[in-house]
Amino acid sequence: MRSISIFGATGSIGESTFDLIRRSGGAEAYRTVALTGARNVRRLAEMARELRAEVAVTAHEAELPGLREALVGSGVEAAAGAAAIAEAADRPADWVMSGIVGAAGLVPGMRALRHGGMLALANKESLVTAGQLLLATAQAHGATILPVDSEHSAVFQALTGEDGGAVERVIITASGGPFREWPLERLAAATVAEAKAHPNWSMGNRISIDSASMFNKALELIETREFFGFDPAMIEVLVHPQSIVHALVGFRDGGIMAHLGPADMRHAIGFALHWPERGHLPVERLDLARLGSLTFEAPDDRRFPALRLAREVMALRGLSGAAFNAAKEIALDHFMAGEIGFLDMAAVVEDTLDAVSAETALTMPAASLEEVLAMDHLARIRAAEQARKRIEGR
Ligand code: NAD
Ligand code: MG
Repeated sequence: MRSISIFGATGSIGESTFDLIRRSGGAEAYRTVALTGARNVRRLAEMARELRAEVAVTAHEAELPGLREALVGSGVEAAAGAAAIAEAADRPADWVMSGIVGAAGLVPGMRALRHGGMLALANKESLVTAGQLLLATAQAHGATILPVDSEHSAVFQALTGEDGGAVERVIITASGGPFREWPLERLAAATVAEAKAHPNWSMGNRISIDSASMFNKALELIETREFFGFDPAMIEVLVHPQSIVHALVGFRDGGIMAHLGPADMRHAIGFALHWPERGHLPVERLDLARLGSLTFEAPDDRRFPALRLAREVMALRGLSGAAFNAAKEIALDHFMAGEIGFLDMAAVVEDTLDAVSAETALTMPAASLEEVLAMDHLARIRAAEQARKRIEGR
């Protein structure tokens, strides 16, 4: 029986993963090692009971009594805290979903790779902050990383059976989010509720707001560069409001392989779950005649400066991705708290990169996970200072 673990089980990616596991036999078909979550311990316990998990872990110590109570009589162990989540990743599983949001997903993913199984990687922040280390760890332990971000799963699928050397360009699409047509002046006053309302995808709040600001696409540009190793100049972003074409790979003969599918993450998750085979997945079948038309437009770096910043990070590499991601997370926290404006997020990130690069070399490749975490820590402090300046200046 195949063993699995789901990190971030209670989130949007985690629920979709749970749904697919349950549809393909649940506890009868898979041996569940670990499930992790954060505040929603009732849901975590419910999932752990159903899949008969070995252990359920909440990120928060304060939630442990609640988790224990919800698991009474189930035989599922309960644990809490970041260290317990990392320890859960030390328990071997054949297939692990990395579905925690933010840099918190990095350590568990790294630890899971040491068993040499498969890591289904939804947590793009791992590749942005520590891409080279992550790939080196996978290689050293014979582990396989399967991209779960829809665009990256699409690129992966379009590359199957192809010669990587014949690739000329890689195009990842972006819906353009809720503010695709908003003028710059209006963007400054965009609210959290407006930013959360993604037109096509149902996702966690943080990634939904990142989609509105295009910080999500910025992370994905870096993710493409790190995971597939293509030169940054070969990687393009294309706005495609219908979110049907997820990515395109262009070859030197002028041909392009595109990947199409409905905006349902269960496709990319299911592809990773059944890889290298193709399983039967419960996603809607496309009716292109009914859709009628698919449209495309160039992204606007002026209204969405995150894309320009991503290009800088792709050129710098080294520790700049860790600084970029940490600054973005802090800026997002302040925006979600209503303390800074929508456009202030990019300004905070840019100012943080400047501040950090003035005190340390961002281009230095990370030699260890500790270096990445130290950069993450430093950038969070600098970003909080930059955010404070913006709050005081308002
Ligand atoms: P979400 O907010 O819905 O869920 C996040 C999960 O992480 C939850 O289980 C939560 O309990 C857990 N979590 C939050 N903070 C934590 C912490 N500090 N320590 C440990 N666990 C913590 O997020 P999501 O939308 O499911 O996204 C998860 C990841 O997948 C992100 O990296 C996101 O960029 C990526 N992703 C998501 C989608 C999508 O459609 N939702 C698509 C592509 C990529
Ligand atoms: Mg994506």
